[in-house]
Amino acid sequence: MRMASVFVWQNPTMAPETHGLSYNTVDHWEISRSSLKLLKKLGAGQFGEVFEGIWNDRTAVAVKTLKPGTMDPKDFLREAQIMKKLRHAKLIQLYAVCTTEEPIYIITELMSHGSLQEYLQNKGASLQMSDQIEMGAQVASGMAYLELQNYIHRDLAARNVLVGDNNVCKVADFGLARVIQTVALKWFPVKWTAPEAIHENKFTIKSDVWSFGILLYEIVTFGQMPYPTMTNFQVVQQLPKGYRMPCPLNCPKYLYDIMYECWKDSPADRPTFETLQWKLEEFFDMDLSSYDDANRY
Ligand code: AMP
Repeated sequence: MRMASVFVWQNPTMAPETHGLSYNTVDHWEISRSSLKLLKKLGAGQFGEVFEGIWNDRTAVAVKTLKPGTMDPKDFLREAQIMKKLRHAKLIQLYAVCTTEEPIYIITELMSHGSLQEYLQNKGASLQMSDQIEMGAQVASGMAYLELQNYIHRDLAARNVLVGDNNVCKVADFGLARVIQTVALKWFPVKWTAPEAIHENKFTIKSDVWSFGILLYEIVTFGQMPYPTMTNFQVVQQLPKGYRMPCPLNCPKYLYDIMYECWKDSPADRPTFETLQWKLEEFFDMDLSSYDDANRY
């Protein structure tokens, strides 16, 4: 079969970006399972397994297999229609789906270093503060695009950001949290979720901003569990009383101030992702050596 990827050259020094695996999949994103070879298991998530795969013996892809019962295929297809339209350099590109039988396959671009959480935990020591801030700015940039599209992620966390070469970070799994059936939820990400989302099920872009503050904490602590000494129950009890995580060791004040803004009680008082992006980019552009101990908590 003819290789028919749609390549969009954004920058001549970068690898081409692939939008959809074939012309057939531009309108009909369904591809045949037999055109995929699953090569190596990359990991197992809550809802299934992820493999490195190859499509039509040529194109390297990531294949997420969803445990049967995780979601209603009809709901997923509806969500996938929206996900296909979301295209941004800092969002994982959906390439194709296999939904005619279970397990559902979700085929996306492959990221060489896997999840940001594992990356931070394994390679954290080699990262500079400027790298960490740049990673935060990249996630904010992907989220600012979702914000513009009036789209909510609902499960923003370092485990749902993927890392490629040169610390490139892309937001993954947007839209999936909405269609995952609650019965499949053995685990709810309490420590990442805004209070109004936990208590009143009010998920908005501002609850994503709260989660982004937690993600910044993960970045600066090299993938440490948020609220490390507290249980989920304690977190739920303490947040309405005004408790917030203290500034992590070696975290610049400027960065902690950004996190803290994300954790404002009133969703309307939290910054937009657009603001978060420029603040982080501005910080990244500054000479970090001027940040002496006086600027650290
Ligand atoms: P998940 O089910 O999304 O939590 O994925 C489980 C693991 O598979 C992640 O922690 C990553 O290490 C890996 N993974 C998921 N998606 C990709 C991808 N597109 N490229 C590379 N690795 C991935």
